[in-house]
Amino acid sequence: MLTPDAVRRAGDHELLLVWNDGSRQLLTFASLRLQCPCAGCVDEMTGARLIRPERIPAGIHAMDWKTVGNYALQFRWSDGHQTGIYSYDYLRSL
Ligand SMILES: [Zn+2]
Repeated sequence: MLTPDAVRRAGDHELLLVWNDGSRQLLTFASLRLQCPCAGCVDEMTGARLIRPERIPAGIHAMDWKTVGNYALQFRWSDGHQTGIYSYDYLRSL
């Protein structure tokens, strides 16, 4: 199963994931926040994205994060949002 060996900030704007297959993935905090999979950000029926890019504050970043079970990360965002559970499969697909 694919899991991150390391998750850390890479500068002010990006998150670095080092996966257990040795690959490295850089994701910007803004794109991660925009792609939050929680019910407040995505319509569960239609899959339509409810959050708009212009609503995301400039300089958005993850204040911290925690692992959820063995399968996901949950971020605490600088805009106060923290309900999104990002599965490793989902993160890897971004
Ligand atoms: Zn959300």
